[in-house]
Amino acid sequence: MRFTATESFLKYLKEWEKIGAFIGEAKFSQDFSESDDPLSGLPFAIKDNITVKGLPITCGSRLLECVKSPFTATAVEKLEAKGAFVVGKTNLDEFGMGSSTDNSALQKTNNPWDTSRVPGGSSGGSAAAVAAGLVPFALGSDTGGSVRQPAAFCGVVGLKPTYGAVSRFGLVSYASSLEGIGVLADTTARCRDVFAVIRGKDDKDQTSRDAPPKAPPLKEKNRKPGARTIGVLSASTVAKAIATAAAQEGMESLERAAQAAALEPEVTEGFEQAKATLASLGYHLIDVEIPSLKYGVPAYYTIATAEASANLARFDSVRYGARPDWAENPDDLIDRAREAGFGDEVKLRILLGTFVLRSGFQDRYYLRAQRIRAGIRASFESLLGDADYTQPAQIDAILLPVFPTRAFGRGESSLSPFAQKAADLYTCCANLAGLPALSFPAMVVGGLPVGVQLLGRAFAEGVLFDIVEDYEKVRPFPHPSGFKAFWDAP
Ligand code: GLN
Repeated sequence: MRFTATESFLKYLKEWEKIGAFIGEAKFSQDFSESDDPLSGLPFAIKDNITVKGLPITCGSRLLECVKSPFTATAVEKLEAKGAFVVGKTNLDEFGMGSSTDNSALQKTNNPWDTSRVPGGSSGGSAAAVAAGLVPFALGSDTGGSVRQPAAFCGVVGLKPTYGAVSRFGLVSYASSLEGIGVLADTTARCRDVFAVIRGKDDKDQTSRDAPPKAPPLKEKNRKPGARTIGVLSASTVAKAIATAAAQEGMESLERAAQAAALEPEVTEGFEQAKATLASLGYHLIDVEIPSLKYGVPAYYTIATAEASANLARFDSVRYGARPDWAENPDDLIDRAREAGFGDEVKLRILLGTFVLRSGFQDRYYLRAQRIRAGIRASFESLLGDADYTQPAQIDAILLPVFPTRAFGRGESSLSPFAQKAADLYTCCANLAGLPALSFPAMVVGGLPVGVQLLGRAFAEGVLFDIVEDYEKVRPFPHPSGFKAFWDAP
């Protein structure tokens, strides 16, 4: 299908300017080379930490506001080769650090369901653009939940692929061992079409790989819906495990973390609905537990900040970034550039990262976090099977919440920075384990979407798509009021 930016579409685009999804202007009239791929002729948006040659690459940071990329990310190149075309860059939390997109130094992005609320983050601009119907799909990045959480807040589908399944070439690194490029889309089928194009080994990213031959196909032919076992990881089990650890270790911060991990009643309602719907489709549901998950957030933030402090060292205004007008000497130049260019959250994380990597302290923090990470991965693999397909699987996927709340507001109705980090619990485990996870809208409660996610075996994205497609057939995904579709469903 070929999209044309008609008068009525341009008017529609103007009406949705209130959500501030794009950084700068989105350009919908462009040349592209058509193909017979289902994505041919479709516009798409890109989180502004993924490069497109000749376009700005701000990463939501003042430091990079004036930088243009000299090359295009592999994932984007692959989509362009199929005839899809880039319309613009979307807003994000600075360098992907956050859960609201409010950490962008450049502008605010609002949730299309309620513009007084955040779209989630850090891929909030991409999620808002898809939810408002400005594009059928968008690229984001997911280091600890940044595709799935905004997808849940905005009522769209969000895929975090298996680690290495999509090339990271052209993605500005935040925490390299955790992250990957992900997909936000209006429907499950579209998400699958996009993933089919962008996945695969790329010589420009040595951590990328093709799916192993024994991995399930991206779409199972002649499949019987419901013929699979889904493990259910309930929030109450996880929150209880953290609270027990808090009591044993007498740690007040863990106690607060347990409170932050508890689901609001509306999210519980959505989760129960998802369980009931999957059961009615014939899926076999069993309860599962991952005990080591209680240390998931501390491990995630130790590893993520350690890697961020190293990755962000390149932004010194010499190699990249805005330069101060005046400096005493080269060290002073770098200090001034970073002081003026980075926002508070970024500075906090660089400080934390350098702290946990300090010589003599690695055993206490970084290496301990890596051991917790290995334990979490082993627990998931014992249920789902390993990445090389040598072990048998006990279950096909795990259903779990995405985030303890629906889209939150600003000011008093916001979540504290601590609560936002503690709430990453349900998403960051897929990153720690390197596994694929697909977030989708379970239902709308109180006027806001509630998302849930399915987590799968490495390179078994196809299984997740099949299950979510069954769900979507009986519970079509919702849209915010004022939504219009300008392209056909795939
Ligand atoms: N909330 C997480 C963080 O701030 C998500 C980050 C991400 O996935 N980019 O680190």
